[in-house]
Amino acid sequence: MEASNQHAADSLGLEPSEMRRLGYRVVDLVVDHFERKALGPAVHTGTPDGLWAALGGPVPDLPGDPEKAITTLAEVAMAHMQHGDHPRFFARVPGPSSFAAVLGEWLGIGHNAIASSWATGSGPTTVELVVIDWLRTLLGMPEETEGVLLSGGSMANLTAFGAARAVCGDGVAYLTDQTHAALTRDLQALGFPPEHVRVLPSDESFRFSMPVLAAAVAEDRAAGRRPLMVVATAGTTNTGTVDPLPEIADFCASEDLWFHVDGAYGAPAALSEPGRAVLRGIERADSLVLDPHKWLFQPYDVGCVLVRRPGALRRAFSINAEYIKDVQSVNGEVDFRDRSLELTRRSRALKLWLTFRIHGSDRIRAAITRCIELAEFAEEVLRGSDDWEIVTPAQVGIVTFALRGADEETQAARAAALVASGYAAVTPTTLRGRSVLRLCTINPTTTEDDIVGTLDRLAGRS
Ligand SMILES: *Cc1c(COP(=O)(O)O)cnc(C)c1O
Repeated sequence: MEASNQHAADSLGLEPSEMRRLGYRVVDLVVDHFERKALGPAVHTGTPDGLWAALGGPVPDLPGDPEKAITTLAEVAMAHMQHGDHPRFFARVPGPSSFAAVLGEWLGIGHNAIASSWATGSGPTTVELVVIDWLRTLLGMPEETEGVLLSGGSMANLTAFGAARAVCGDGVAYLTDQTHAALTRDLQALGFPPEHVRVLPSDESFRFSMPVLAAAVAEDRAAGRRPLMVVATAGTTNTGTVDPLPEIADFCASEDLWFHVDGAYGAPAALSEPGRAVLRGIERADSLVLDPHKWLFQPYDVGCVLVRRPGALRRAFSINAEYIKDVQSVNGEVDFRDRSLELTRRSRALKLWLTFRIHGSDRIRAAITRCIELAEFAEEVLRGSDDWEIVTPAQVGIVTFALRGADEETQAARAAALVASGYAAVTPTTLRGRSVLRLCTINPTTTEDDIVGTLDRLAGRS
């Protein structure tokens, strides 16, 4: 090797001028996507053979044309997926990612930002502490609340359950049939035995039934089992239903149980005036999960867990070893590696910080309010037509409905045809055995015409 005291800019040898050229190309492709996404399909799925033909092949031994490679990724890989940021993507949970957040993500990735410990990343650690403090303030939790950012709701709920168990010991968790499936998986992964995972039937409006919960807790105590926590949901994925949070909080206080709230979908609604009323009591959670990659306009991935009890996360997840001793905080600074199962961690806070700094919470609140109103508008349109029956009213951005006189296959076929047409994406789901259609309207760029056009097509009217 030739001796040199000039450092190459790039570990694999791209020259700065080339890096800029390609980097600007990527910026253009992404802004093009933001500008034109509404013109393309809401979902586009390829075939395994077709996609493999365009993207596969033997290991490339020699350098290739970078521009061509970037274009292939944009035109083939990025084109074949659900576009959760499309204004007519109403399926499952949309992902109305914002450009401010993308900028934060790029900046962090470009600097290989790390947020494992104070010593390895005091800057990103502080940004994460600030963001967690903003989120807990917006949700009304007390100042001593601690938190950590994770890949999403699945990991954030698991982290909360770990904290609950570290503080309170083993015991029974109470869920309902509307609790997200990831949470039962979380409990199983943490080693909760089946008799410690009680899935209770929800009431007629798909909420926790307080009498059923009280009876289950009493029954467990009588059988010598130890009740540990109630897992409430603030905005279920199926219907947007919010469990009776104040009642559950009171019950947990009187029974000495951990009060967990899964707000992965719905918690951001608490930032808006109408949502705050529905989510009253959320601020009393011992642990609360939200998913900024759903309704806080962040690209994948970022979830968040907030825990009211200081030290609980650390108690569950602190890690040490001889090779990280030198990067252990000594003056009480936060080492985020001690708050979840992640040791090497990227900074997911930068994008949230930049979004709030660029837009301010007022604009974010207004966007969330608009989304809540869009679901209410959809409900109004549905009620105004004989084609439809409302199954559950608009609740924090979700409305479910059924086509009068149509069976499951017909409805599923209409939804599938709509997706195949590219015009919009709508999810069919099942509520107590009944097949329904569902709109989730958390994209503030959605128009009233988008909703009318989608419902017309589902009704077979255009
Ligand atoms: C989406 C969702 C989850 C799972 O979150 P991921 O980010 O997909 O891991 C959990 N609970 C609820 C209510 C959700 O909507």
